[in-house]
Amino acid sequence: MKIRKMMKRYCPKCKKHTEQKVSQSKKKTPFSTHPLAKAGKKRRGFGHGFGNRGTRGSKPAIGSFKMTGKKSSKKTDFRYECKECKKIWVQKKGFRAKKIEFT
Ligand SMILES: [Zn+2]
Repeated sequence: MKIRKMMKRYCPKCKKHTEQKVSQSKKKTPFSTHPLAKAGKKRRGFGHGFGNRGTRGSKPAIGSFKMTGKKSSKKTDFRYECKECKKIWVQKKGFRAKKIEFT
């Protein structure tokens, strides 16, 4: 998907439409946004594996042959930088796209 580098958007600080620079932030893992949350996490529950991982029975673990829970596209995470007040606004809702191109 092609995205324009400069966009005219509404800036709540300037209270008018201004030229804003669009950029995509880095891909984040769940704990990079809240690093301290990792420290207190106990190795328990759903996050730490579920089931017996196919060790019992003849079938391999379902995760090894099926694309379960895997999405091939990522949600966009745009930042809009207002040219006039230099404030950066984060987009409200991302949409799924495999590839983002800035033109
Ligand atoms: Zn502004």
